[in-house]
Amino acid sequence: MNQPKENAGLSMKDYNHNNLCTWCDGCGNYGILTAIKRALIELELAPHQVLICFDVGCHGNMSDTLVGYRFHGLHGRVISLAAGAALANPDVPVIAFGGDGACFSEGVGHLVHAVRSNYNMTFILHNNANYGLTTGQASALTPHGEKMNTAPHGTVEELLNSMDFVFSLNPSFVARGTSGNIKQLTDIIKAGINHQGFSYIDVLQACPTYNKFATHEYLLGKCYEVETSDFETARKAAVDTSEKIATGVLYQDKTRSTFLDQLEARKGIDTRLVDEVRKVDVSALLAKFS
Ligand code: SF4
Repeated sequence: MNQPKENAGLSMKDYNHNNLCTWCDGCGNYGILTAIKRALIELELAPHQVLICFDVGCHGNMSDTLVGYRFHGLHGRVISLAAGAALANPDVPVIAFGGDGACFSEGVGHLVHAVRSNYNMTFILHNNANYGLTTGQASALTPHGEKMNTAPHGTVEELLNSMDFVFSLNPSFVARGTSGNIKQLTDIIKAGINHQGFSYIDVLQACPTYNKFATHEYLLGKCYEVETSDFETARKAAVDTSEKIATGVLYQDKTRSTFLDQLEARKGIDTRLVDEVRKVDVSALLAKFS
């Protein structure tokens, strides 16, 4: 990435907003917010040089506390709106944040097609294994049998294994981090932004208010770092969390072309889609139906 030299002087305050942050004490969102700011600083991306999109959920409060071009969309739809922006102007890095509630239920179809299409964008999953904003209901990523507010006797649905699911879609980039390891998460986010294609980053996020089974201490004690490896080894390491949880950039294929790069219709065209948008007068056409 070629950025202007003056960006080398960026600091946290360039991304800080004075709006009140409403997260609970000890929420893992604070760690993720710090990691994204550090990643942008270290990549020398100023707030006006990046688009950051948010789904609905506790994490969405970040859109009020992080300076930059931001879009706070509808529940479950963050991947689709971010993908549209990435296709319209591939010169601007696009980052989308979403929770496990939205992105593995209502929005799971968007995730499926973004991974297999390999849109050039970074998706950061706030995986706290519940719907925190609406007071702790079980999500598709809540383990079977956990007692949640909508399931006081334990969830009856089977857990959706997010890593197995994503690997089944032939992804080009898969990483996992935790909200408690900010240094590692910063490096993961930087790698995701630099990747050409769809970067899936699963962040195991502590939610001390509603998630009593995967606390900060539990996650930090169970996670270990692994190096990038081949697809099958990475998938195995990612899926098997019975003893330890593998974190880091688990898999990356740098040879895959992005969706836009594969389109024959765009070959040889220097302009961006966003440059080609024109106002078209359709009043004569509409008059035929009046
Ligand atoms: Fe964070 Fe959980 Fe509180 Fe939401 S409910 S702000 S995810 S601790």
